[in-house]
Amino acid sequence: MNKKDEPESSNIIKYRGRFAPSPTGSLHFGSLITAIASYLEAKTSQGKWFLRIDNADFLREQDKASDSIKRSLELHGFEWDGNTHYQSNSLTLYNQKKDHLIDNDYVFRCNCSRKNLRNNPIGLNGVIYKGTCRTKNIKEDFSIRVITEHLKVAFKDEIQGHQACQIDEDIGDFTIWRRDNIISYHLATVIDDNEVGITNVVRGYDLLNSTFCQLYLQNILNYINPIYSHIPIATDANNQKLSKQFGAAELSNKLITQNLFNGLCALKQEPPTELRSDNLSNIWSWAIDNWSSKKLTMVKSITTLN
Ligand code: GLU
Repeated sequence: MNKKDEPESSNIIKYRGRFAPSPTGSLHFGSLITAIASYLEAKTSQGKWFLRIDNADFLREQDKASDSIKRSLELHGFEWDGNTHYQSNSLTLYNQKKDHLIDNDYVFRCNCSRKNLRNNPIGLNGVIYKGTCRTKNIKEDFSIRVITEHLKVAFKDEIQGHQACQIDEDIGDFTIWRRDNIISYHLATVIDDNEVGITNVVRGYDLLNSTFCQLYLQNILNYINPIYSHIPIATDANNQKLSKQFGAAELSNKLITQNLFNGLCALKQEPPTELRSDNLSNIWSWAIDNWSSKKLTMVKSITTLN
């Protein structure tokens, strides 16, 4: 039976994608293209698309950024399923999962400072941590790290192809809970993706190496591994990733159709020139009818003037 013909009651797990911006500033062109790609992948797979605001790290959260991102997405015509999920509502669950990892001896306390680690070799995700504190009995002022076994972690990225690393040697014991008592990005992401039953993660290439840590945690926690697609990141003329941290310009909500058109161009979809001056609804229809992630195969970055 064709997938499209399956009855609603089918037990087959349907595509569930998400967009998970951090509210460290307003939407910019780099995050817009991630939103467009993840949305179009979900829509062309007859799937659902969820919005999660990654605000577990409340120290980096900017006042009003979540509302501004949501408003911008709405104005650009994105429609997400269900309510917006805020990581700040999951703190109890995060603590339960942390306790589970502690109780089952998957983790250890570490009080190494950045300075202590500065001579360690650099691996796929920054400094490689070789288990320095694994056997110490640390009582206070600690982060929590996961014990990485001598294991190869591999996955097939839908855009970037086969990926593999030796987790203990190429990354080392990574942090799951920070010294300032905030959950790490990796642990929060796998818990939330699992809670919502995310089947497909579409995000920027800069997060590709994070996937090894996230797959490792998913396996410890008995979660299903989603399918990953890492789309190219948008960079400026100096090859610097467009990011709020480096002052990427806020998207103008007065240039919605241009933003979308430019986003589709950046994603190598080659929209026809006349679409540039068309309305929002026609741009989205064209995008859904013509979306092809194959056009991004092995592309890691895109230089843009936005
Ligand atoms: N919140 C992360 C960011 O804005 C993305 C997380 C993810 O997609 O896994 O960079």
